[in-house]
Amino acid sequence: MKCLAVASEIFPLIKTGGLADVTGALPAALAAQGIATTSLLPGYPSVLEALHKPEEVCTYPDLFGGSARVVHGTAAGLDLLAIDAPHLYARRGNPYLDDRGHDWADNGIRFAALGRVAAWLARGGVANFTPDVLHLHDWQAGLTAAYLRQEKAPRPAIVATIHNLAFQGIFPAAMLRSLRLDDALYTPDGIEYHGSISYLKASLVYADRITTVSPSYADEICTPEGGMGLDGVLRWRTHHLQGILNGIDTDVWNPETDSLIPVQYSRRRPAARAANKAELQRRFGLTVEPECLLLGVVGRMSWQKGLDLLLDALPAAHGAGAQLAVLGSGEPALEGRFRAANAAAPEYAGCIIGYDEEISHLMQAGADALLVPSRFEPCGLTQLCALRYGAVPVVARTGGLADTIIHANEASLAADVATGVQFNPGSRAALEQAIQRTAALWHAQTHWRKIQRNGMATDVSWSERAGHYAALFRCLRPGAA
Ligand code: ADP
Repeated sequence: MKCLAVASEIFPLIKTGGLADVTGALPAALAAQGIATTSLLPGYPSVLEALHKPEEVCTYPDLFGGSARVVHGTAAGLDLLAIDAPHLYARRGNPYLDDRGHDWADNGIRFAALGRVAAWLARGGVANFTPDVLHLHDWQAGLTAAYLRQEKAPRPAIVATIHNLAFQGIFPAAMLRSLRLDDALYTPDGIEYHGSISYLKASLVYADRITTVSPSYADEICTPEGGMGLDGVLRWRTHHLQGILNGIDTDVWNPETDSLIPVQYSRRRPAARAANKAELQRRFGLTVEPECLLLGVVGRMSWQKGLDLLLDALPAAHGAGAQLAVLGSGEPALEGRFRAANAAAPEYAGCIIGYDEEISHLMQAGADALLVPSRFEPCGLTQLCALRYGAVPVVARTGGLADTIIHANEASLAADVATGVQFNPGSRAALEQAIQRTAALWHAQTHWRKIQRNGMATDVSWSERAGHYAALFRCLRPGAA
């Protein structure tokens, strides 16, 4: 069976978040299930430069204002098609933002081009690339479904995956003509969304099946509180919606072989983490103190991630005797507050503003606990890495965080199944209590070791989870004309 995955990011070629981790790891996991994936991406410089033996498979004299071609090649074990369209994608850095952090003004066109080429390939536009199933990731791939709809010809089955409903790809209705979309699609049960066009909605309305990245998030997005304005559409499609948990690439995230960390270690010798903790404390300018509970955070600095609540909870964390190491970047106001907190108390509130793969691995290998205080979290990947690396996850009880961590209460501790600490999302008081509870567990080291050991024994790989995608793909039939 052949799958064409359409996405705007793929690890290790281009990444801003968990989407890239998923699109980068799923192909190998699906291959083990007998499904061959080719991934279509915009030809950003980092993608085109990574392609091994690129071959041109088709050309477009005019793809939204410039000539373009599609090239096929491989990179990092991935089978890739890239749209080489310099007028749209020959820009370095973040795939969505310019140097000042603003959305590129032509993002609507850039990702419509991705959809148009995907639709062409899905229909067999290029020999040997006709897929049985089309897997559309997030809003950037969403318009593919609209182009296929208006062409009224046979097409492969379409699965749309929501990685984060907060990003909906909304563009002005006045673009309808320039996007070459039929007026007939611009209706409330089509791509129209409060007087604009939503690329994500296009995929939710026209896909055969919708998945999202955890069962709890699948429930949450069908409610007015969690549906971000699309809950009505999702309730309408609820029989075609399911949650499939993300896994992580356990080759990339393997503490026994990780070349990015100072000392490698196994589940049988978690005590070897001590040297990584000392290095992490040094890197963040914290007092090097083995007995002190070290809380780590890795993530985008945004309202979603609840890091403002963490800033508010800093005095309580200090009161509980904890140190904090925060790695992230994002909203300038939050970055500024973390820098200020660091300047005010460098010995216990460390922060590094930026995106750094190496430090993110060191964080997982050295922090005692990994804090994820998100207000909502579709799946979350950092807590999965934390489980594998023996950093005890302390997470808000929402979305995939709720589904992947077993809260340490009396019953789970007695049954020896606890893997972390959960608390109610969106509340400073609940976060403070969770930090205090974590500190208490840290001081009761027998409990701590068990929680850590249970976490490290948890299966966070893709193997079983990819099986759910494979089963879904296999039960679908090609779409009607
Ligand atoms: P989201 O996709 O909402 O940003 P996830 O938890 O699903 O959140 O995935 C985030 C991914 O990006 C993880 O692989 C995480 O390690 C990585 N990441 C986030 N921020 C940073 C950073 N500042 N430096 C390095 N890696 C980061």
